[in-house]
Amino acid sequence: MTKPTPRSTVLVIDAYVPGRSAAPGAARVFKLSANETPLGPSPRAVEALRGMADHIALYPEGSSRALREAIGARYALNPDRIIAGAGSDNLLELLALAYIGPGDEAVYSQHGFLEYKIVTLAAGGTPVVAPETNYTAEVDALLACVSERTKIVFLANPNNPTGTFLPANEVARLARSLPSHVLLVLDAAYAEYVLREDYEAGVALVDAHENVVMTRTFSKIYGLAGLRVGWAYGPAHVIDALNRIRSPFNVSSVGSAAAIAALSDRAHLDAAIAHNDRWLPWLSREISALGLDVLPSVANFVAIRFPDAPGLTAVDADRFLMSRGLVLRAIGAYGMGEFLRLTVGAQEANERVVEALAEFMQSARAPQDAQAGVHG
Ligand SMILES: *Cc1c(COP(=O)(O)O)cnc(C)c1O
Repeated sequence: MTKPTPRSTVLVIDAYVPGRSAAPGAARVFKLSANETPLGPSPRAVEALRGMADHIALYPEGSSRALREAIGARYALNPDRIIAGAGSDNLLELLALAYIGPGDEAVYSQHGFLEYKIVTLAAGGTPVVAPETNYTAEVDALLACVSERTKIVFLANPNNPTGTFLPANEVARLARSLPSHVLLVLDAAYAEYVLREDYEAGVALVDAHENVVMTRTFSKIYGLAGLRVGWAYGPAHVIDALNRIRSPFNVSSVGSAAAIAALSDRAHLDAAIAHNDRWLPWLSREISALGLDVLPSVANFVAIRFPDAPGLTAVDADRFLMSRGLVLRAIGAYGMGEFLRLTVGAQEANERVVEALAEFMQSARAPQDAQAGVHG
């Protein structure tokens, strides 16, 4: 008996595994596994959301015009060259679907965001993985992977789950060096968190090239992950292609309204930036001081490397933290099994993580030291 069979590249996909939200048995749970903002959304967004309650029987305006205009006004961009989507994942998917087919390749870096692999395979294409150096994407390595068959180069900047980034001059060199038939997708999901002078989310490169597109999201610093709203800014011909294949009402009326309200709340955004600017360096410093390696991050999370020693591994640490209700993200699927990714949380969560890690390092070391006769 035959049954319907998906295309050959579909069943080789490992479905994306979201960050866990439960810690069975723990009295209180601190979810630090999905890079959500501890400040939550702007109260204005929540109010706008409530205001939509009486209108949800109606379809949204299909092109998300009001949202695109609000984004355009906020970031000084032409709304005609913006497309909105159900999260930026939706836009990554549309980009793959529009540009990649069987026999085509998409390039991304070794520890790059896993969604690139998923959307490439889903479109029937072949993923090509460029090596990284020090958990950071490398322009020359990406370029070396580009061939006649390459349709897209995906670059998360900063990258999830590493937190590392490429400076503007390097991304510009990548854009300049790519053959004109290759689309460069700059995924700037964490752009608002990056406070470095040498960082650029991608607007200037989109404006300078016909083959660069930037994706953004309301899921991270804006705190609207549950509503699924993202957008992309690109050359008119790319936006046109995506508009032809997106579903007709791909952003909900409620999501649009909340996102528009969120954009108007500069104070809330600034508070989220300031919170991260305080706690990201604090966490990096405190955790490093415990003898753990912390990758240098410019986003709202850090990747922590655990020793390859019995009782001290990332798996051990994960178990220990979970028992205290601290839910981090295991990132073995990214080839980083010796790491856990920690989202910057509220003050209490951050302090608990550092305390718990200190305790973990102590308790895990003690029996080993005893075995090794360190304590005589
Ligand atoms: C979280 C994240 C996204 C966005 O997700 P959406 O919720 O679909 O907007 C995109 N890229 C990276 C690198 C992310 O970490």
